[in-house]
Amino acid sequence: MNKLEIIPLGGIGEFGMNCMGIRFGDEMIIVDAGMGFPEETPYGVDISIPNFDFLDDYADDLTALILTHGHEDHIGALPYFLKKFNLPVYASRFTLALAEKRLSEHKMLDDVLLHRVEANDVSKIGNFEIEYIHASHSLVDCFSLAIKTPVGTLIHTGDYKIDETPVIGKPYDLKTLKKYGDEGVLMLLADSTNATVAGRTPSERAVIPAFEEIFADAEGRIIVSTFASSLHRLQVVLNVAHAFDRRVCVLGRSMQKNFEIATGLGLLDVPHNTLIELGESRSLDDDQIVYLVTGSQGESRAALWNMASGNYKGLGIEKGDTVILSARIIPGNDRAISRLIGEIYKHGGNIIEEKRRLIHVSGHASQEDIKIMTETVRPKFVVPIHGEYRMLFRHKEYIKNHVEGYTDENIILIENGDILELDANSAQVVAHNDIGKSFIDEAHLGEIDYEIIRERKKLGFSGLITLVVAVDRETKKLKSEPQLTVQGVAGINPLNGLLQNARQSIADIITETKRDKYQNKNFMAETLRVHLKRMIQQETGTKPVIVSTVVEV
Ligand SMILES: [Zn+2]
Repeated sequence: MNKLEIIPLGGIGEFGMNCMGIRFGDEMIIVDAGMGFPEETPYGVDISIPNFDFLDDYADDLTALILTHGHEDHIGALPYFLKKFNLPVYASRFTLALAEKRLSEHKMLDDVLLHRVEANDVSKIGNFEIEYIHASHSLVDCFSLAIKTPVGTLIHTGDYKIDETPVIGKPYDLKTLKKYGDEGVLMLLADSTNATVAGRTPSERAVIPAFEEIFADAEGRIIVSTFASSLHRLQVVLNVAHAFDRRVCVLGRSMQKNFEIATGLGLLDVPHNTLIELGESRSLDDDQIVYLVTGSQGESRAALWNMASGNYKGLGIEKGDTVILSARIIPGNDRAISRLIGEIYKHGGNIIEEKRRLIHVSGHASQEDIKIMTETVRPKFVVPIHGEYRMLFRHKEYIKNHVEGYTDENIILIENGDILELDANSAQVVAHNDIGKSFIDEAHLGEIDYEIIRERKKLGFSGLITLVVAVDRETKKLKSEPQLTVQGVAGINPLNGLLQNARQSIADIITETKRDKYQNKNFMAETLRVHLKRMIQQETGTKPVIVSTVVEV
């Protein structure tokens, strides 16, 4: 079979969990292994990852895992992936440094093979030849990929924006992309996160003027919160702080760790005498200090939330403080952030959000950037990836309406689990698999089955009834009154007689069951459970979880 298959495991039609299989013959590479933030967090899980069990059937084909960049939605599932399939990993130095941090938390750093690659390096992996192309994004050392396959060349953008003046590093390497465009590209798989946003995405430098104005006006302490991986932003804060004679104190575990990694790799340029420890910072005047902290998403364990709610190692938000939230709201975090802002106001702090000032720019391509990308690569087919369905759809519509030569025929919308088959001239979805996701409880770094979450949801939604019945080992007759315990079930109370009726009807069933019909205690327990379930549903309209046990004494 001389066809190429593209199989997305996550990241299509949803935010996060980016992961894609690319297969030719009996060889398959994987691009990215990301995590997501599931709606199911109230049920005791922290993150979700693609269900990698799907790849069991391809286990012998898997040859390599390529990481485009170090964001959690691209590398967060790495330890869980590698525990199942221990493949060699190819990534840039900063991506690898972040990946190593994750792997060491799982104590698996010694068991995996990590290849550090640089922009314009080429890896020959079986049938695939992969060139890493320098991409601009909100963090550094990011790649788009040119993947040469026997049927043609794929361009996978990873996450990108077209930044001509990034704070750190070079602009997007459009030249190499254009070179591939000139040679002929079969398919472009392109980031859709900002496909609903008009115009161009501003450069990372665009935030500098607003930071300068805020620093010029602030008389008290300045607290900046952003993502620990947004190195361009961290560099801007360092530079502006230095220019305004403020010193920078870095707080929060992930911020401190990333600072250490980035300065160690020479990616961050820390102006002389700018960084300061927490202890020392306390002796400075308010207008001499900037706290650079984690927690821009309102995370309850992060430094900013603890400061806002009164105490982080003795620091709290006070009147006169200026808090700059230099990050976007990740979908689902709106409430937590709103609560955070409320706390900051309550303690007298002033908040500056991206709605009011240009203190944050996106790391993703807007519509005009998407147009530039498509025109530079001029692929035969376009497949929008990375984003909710609405964004994928708008990506398609925008190209159809604004780039010549693209129609419904050559812009293909796919879903997680689809098998998109292509040869040199055609591309079509030939099959679909339900892949689903797994959940992770981070405290135990372990996976939790979806069935357990389903059960927890049911318990939380309609409560629990426990039934215990004791029968005589010999006669199989009832030994005592059935025991019923009810927790969180609406419509049942000691006065309405429902429990009494239930006990009676259960006793009746046991009395009426002939000895030869009894079979065994588990069968009896299931019969009673089904009976009770019907009865409760009929009387109260609810469907609680019912646990039924028969003990023989
Ligand atoms: Zn990203």
